[in-house]
Amino acid sequence: NVRVRFAPSPTGPLHIGGVRTALFNYLFAKKHNGDFVLRIEDTDQNRYVEGAEDYIVKSLNWCGITVDEGPGTNEKFGPYRQSERKHLYKQYADELIAKGKAYYAFDTAEQLDAERKAHEAEGKTFIYNWHNREKGRLVNSLVLTETETKAKIEAGDDYVIRFKSPQDETLHLTDIIRGNISIDTNVLDDKVLFKSDGMPTYHLANIVDDHLMEITHVIRGEEWLPSLALHQLLYDGFGWKAPEFAHLPLILKPTGKGKLSKRDGDKMGFPVFPLEYTAPDKTVSRGYKEDGYFPEAVVNFLAFLGWNPGTEQEIFSLEQLISEFDLGKVHKAGARFDPDKTKWFNHHYMQQQLDLDLAEQFKALQPELAEIDINYIALVVGLIKERATFVQDFWDLSHFFFTAPTSYDEKASKKALKDETPALLQEVINIVTRTSEFTVQNLQAKTKGWITENEIGFGKVMMPLRLALVGALQGPDVFDIIFMIGKAETVKRIEALMK
Ligand code: GLU
Repeated sequence: NVRVRFAPSPTGPLHIGGVRTALFNYLFAKKHNGDFVLRIEDTDQNRYVEGAEDYIVKSLNWCGITVDEGPGTNEKFGPYRQSERKHLYKQYADELIAKGKAYYAFDTAEQLDAERKAHEAEGKTFIYNWHNREKGRLVNSLVLTETETKAKIEAGDDYVIRFKSPQDETLHLTDIIRGNISIDTNVLDDKVLFKSDGMPTYHLANIVDDHLMEITHVIRGEEWLPSLALHQLLYDGFGWKAPEFAHLPLILKPTGKGKLSKRDGDKMGFPVFPLEYTAPDKTVSRGYKEDGYFPEAVVNFLAFLGWNPGTEQEIFSLEQLISEFDLGKVHKAGARFDPDKTKWFNHHYMQQQLDLDLAEQFKALQPELAEIDINYIALVVGLIKERATFVQDFWDLSHFFFTAPTSYDEKASKKALKDETPALLQEVINIVTRTSEFTVQNLQAKTKGWITENEIGFGKVMMPLRLALVGALQGPDVFDIIFMIGKAETVKRIEALMK
């Protein structure tokens, strides 16, 4: 049974890289009829941000990524917040000490700093591992006697428990996306697993929980690849079977140079967060939702950050993604983030929406529409949505369906208004008022028939007519506009232009 987890640390808003990780986990789980677990990794109290967990949950919900197990669900592998599992971890750190795979270290921050500087002075980097853990100036249970170690702990000295990484070994690791990786253990430092404040570090808690929660596949960002060796060693140290690993490629800036950062969005004018986020200092970052993106569009474009189906097809619903998704097809190379492509997806998904649904969103956004019948708004939406990327674009594209122009574009007026204009528009008024069967086809046929018969030239009529109705030389078909606003309003607008 496939079980995967999304394990964010609630240290701030989830950015799209995090949402992509969640999405790929979800797709993989659902593809294999497995479980998608949400685990909150909140062991680092210093970096905890109020509201971050709530933001994560709301973001996943908005995207349609449903969690099978997580905080608030009552499943047998819970609780799902590491802070609520605190009591679990110490015994595992102790187990590694008993097995000789970990040790207590009492070095103070000042001592470690001095060590770092002493190494630097000799042009070396300080790695806390077999190079120096048992000789020289470091203070740990490998150099102290058992009695000394005990005495220090009992005296309340601060300690950490460090993993004892092996010397002169080559580790063979496997990653579903990257294949085989070899690591020389001499470059690994003895990572801290547990602190005297009773809290495990990420590494210990993560491995213990993945084991206890019976996680079969760990799918996470490339930034965790350097931790893979330690994680494999921890599984081996406990004698546990390790899950399979897949490290997803980095998401790159639109320029393709460097990793997309949380600050890039506001700097470059596109969102990098699923939902708007207000930081503790009250600065607001844009969100896809508030910017007017449909969740289907965001999910579709996120799926293509590092993956593609190997065909030309670009439009995928969540259901289709589930059936097509394949971890083996995820790329190693960084995926360039393209904000224009997101808009392209949004335009596509807008065309799929019901006009009535879009009309509801439009009405909610635009105070001018408060009194207007929703069915009329829906008809307008049907006429203009092809030109829109966001519901926010609707008003600019359609205000003339609701209100008469209050001014006329200067350039357009120069181009459209000629000496013969009033006479020609008077004839349009006649046609409009006399057309008994008031349909778009009829209006069009009658007007065009008159223009052709009299060899007037379309521009001479259609340009000033459009100017009268819209105030500029833009908008959908003139006869659609006339039909929608009706006889009386059309006449009123033509007369207003000629005044
Ligand atoms: N808590 C880690 C994070 O915030 C999880 C990394 C992992 O998936 O192992 O990304």
